[in-house]
Amino acid sequence: MLDQLGDFKRDYFCGELTENNIGDEVRLLGWADSVRDHGGVIFINLRDKEGIVQIVIDPSKSPKEAYEKAKKVRSEYVLAVRGRVNRRPAGTENPKISTGTIEVAVEELRILNTCDILPFPIEDNINVHEEVRLKYRYLDLRRPEMLKKLMLRHEVYQATREYLVGHGFMEVETPMLTKSTPEGARDFLVPSRLEHGKFYALPQSPQLFKQILMVAGIERYFQIVKCFRDEDLRKDRQPEFTQIDYEMSFVTEEDVMTLTEGLVHFLFKKLLGIEVKLPIRRMSYEEAINKYGTDKPDLRYGLELKDLTELAKEVEFKVFKAVAQSGGLVKGINIKGGAKLSRKEIDGLTEYAQKFGAKGMAWIKINEDGSLQSPIVKFFTEEQLDKLKNIMEAENGDLLVFIADTPETTHRVLGFLRKHIAEMMNLIPEGRWEFVWIVDFPLLEWDEEENRLVALHHPFTSPKEEDIEKLDEAIQNKEIALSFKSRAYDLVLNGEEIAGGSIRIHRPDVQKKIFELIGISDEEAEERFGFLVTALKYGAPPHGGLAFGLDRLVALMTGSDSIREVIAFPKTQKGICPLAGAPDYVRPEQLEELGIEVEIPEEET
Ligand code: ASP
Repeated sequence: MLDQLGDFKRDYFCGELTENNIGDEVRLLGWADSVRDHGGVIFINLRDKEGIVQIVIDPSKSPKEAYEKAKKVRSEYVLAVRGRVNRRPAGTENPKISTGTIEVAVEELRILNTCDILPFPIEDNINVHEEVRLKYRYLDLRRPEMLKKLMLRHEVYQATREYLVGHGFMEVETPMLTKSTPEGARDFLVPSRLEHGKFYALPQSPQLFKQILMVAGIERYFQIVKCFRDEDLRKDRQPEFTQIDYEMSFVTEEDVMTLTEGLVHFLFKKLLGIEVKLPIRRMSYEEAINKYGTDKPDLRYGLELKDLTELAKEVEFKVFKAVAQSGGLVKGINIKGGAKLSRKEIDGLTEYAQKFGAKGMAWIKINEDGSLQSPIVKFFTEEQLDKLKNIMEAENGDLLVFIADTPETTHRVLGFLRKHIAEMMNLIPEGRWEFVWIVDFPLLEWDEEENRLVALHHPFTSPKEEDIEKLDEAIQNKEIALSFKSRAYDLVLNGEEIAGGSIRIHRPDVQKKIFELIGISDEEAEERFGFLVTALKYGAPPHGGLAFGLDRLVALMTGSDSIREVIAFPKTQKGICPLAGAPDYVRPEQLEELGIEVEIPEEET
């Protein structure tokens, strides 16, 4: 028989008790974290969200009824306890818990609920399949490390609000049932019951609405908001994720970036006690790509890319020469101390490079005695080798690896390889926070598949002021268009993009030209985002903003490998919620109401 809670109220959370409570009678509520029977005396670690305290049921001291009940208690039973706080006998203290010098001698015990056999233990560092953890997420979240992550996330919300409200921002909600927002992913669609054949799209971001709020004169808007993107989940992504989204009127890039740096500084200081050095350094997109092969460089370690293209034009090695002479790039990374890598490990690097599209990877090992080992040195003269070593800043004991391909492939492959090498060689220091702003992005890029220009960010990103006059020319000449830089900025932390934004186009004539450049006709623009274009005609102020990926930020702040670790109820990599069993089939009547017919693949019926 279970006991009732009745009017039993707790005096303290378990983890709040201290030696100051010795002698007090206290009432506690929580879960039996562990139960031990030591020769008749029963010890239960009682746990709630604040921590653990040991409760003791000694048959010679506690009432018989409490003792009889205590014998029935198993892991994760829900208990109400009344007892007296005592100092633990000398030698029985537990330094691992904050309440380790005290215990509670039980005078009354109520069992409020039982618990089935657990699918996994409620403790940190468990080795359990993620799908099982997600199916029993309520148990997973009872584990202290998960609770701590959720708590930090909660603190990020609160501190963000505190900071932004303190800087004159107003929190406004924007709709979830809306029209497509062009952030480059597939939309999630919601069918309309009232107008068969029509669909709402879940927002990929509040982009259009936050700009419209600027037209509305809100000046400073923010929202902690869910966004939905139906994209490939192989990378660490979620179909629904959270942004800290904001927008400001009458600002330049500097204003948005400075405000953002202030927020980052505030969050890290307040929640982690870490002083972020301001201003955060800035790097152009071009420099990031050239030196690190990516626009999200991890600056906690070196391994910079070195350019050998000029030298490669002269050498006999055909692969290098052909690439260098046909507009490609030959670049390399010097792996300091890498000469100790085995042939097998080097082959492993080649395979890794091939996974990202390289045809091969050339390498030169410089042994400790200065002798060279490499399949390619025979194609180099002494002088060329000297030049090469010079460019690569090579010393004895180093391993040099090279990729020769189109500029995109060379950079992409070396970007990934650089990260892989840093991990393999243990070059990533613990506890370092390397922030960098990436600026001066190209406004547009050429999409080979679609055979047209596309916006690198979204199509509402402003070109630089000085290029606005050249828009007409650019419509005629793709090269001019490709030379434009945008007023966008991304914030990168330890190689992860944590925020991004831009100064927007606020003039309808400029917006129209940008649509024209990227091949969106007037009709299409009108159809897809006519409401924004119309709004711009009614006195839109210059404006700009930014959005943080909150999940990624919290994952970094808590040292989590995946954003799934910091989302209360995430989906698996297949987009499934094992807890709720979503997505799922719906009843035929529901489909009928929506005017929808579906064909269910046979193997699934
Ligand atoms: N809406 C953009 C995004 O979701 C951010 C921004 O430009 O403010 O990436």
